[in-house]
Amino acid sequence: MPDDTSAADPVAAYLSAVQDRYEGSAAHKDLHRWASDFEERGGGSEYDWMARSLIDVPPLLAAVGAALAEHKAVRIYEPCDHDHTDEDVAAGRAVDAFDFISCEELYLYTICRGCCGFAGTMNGQQTEECAAEHDHGRCYPCPTRVAITTALLGEVPDGDRS
Ligand SMILES: [Zn+2]
Ligand SMILES: [Zn+2]
Ligand SMILES: [Zn+2]
Repeated sequence: MPDDTSAADPVAAYLSAVQDRYEGSAAHKDLHRWASDFEERGGGSEYDWMARSLIDVPPLLAAVGAALAEHKAVRIYEPCDHDHTDEDVAAGRAVDAFDFISCEELYLYTICRGCCGFAGTMNGQQTEECAAEHDHGRCYPCPTRVAITTALLGEVPDGDRS
């Protein structure tokens, strides 16, 4: 299925800006050494605390990134009557809907890979429960995605309400 992660995604852009600011510090490569010295010295200056705090940035970014990768958009399509090939997908004439190839016009709705798909499978094959029982207007963004997005941006951008 198509991957909706793009440079236009405001959450991805925000996280990338955080990463850039972290790496923008000329000292960031020394931070880990500084922070381990800090433990030995038993704390100290304000700079020690800043260094210690900055090395928390990469694992926090990784944690948020992992959650977002799990709770991401998967577009669901109805099968079309054509006999598409992978070349049609590559040329943008058709879309890969995981177990079949369809036309973009037959897009139905967007679900969450983590909440409405089988975890750990390909791109998140839709569960029967989602297909039969979910209100698809609420499948994506899911509560996890909304919580992360709201915490980072203060609101859920319109573009994430597909
Ligand atoms: Zn989800
Ligand atoms: Zn078609
Ligand atoms: Zn669903």
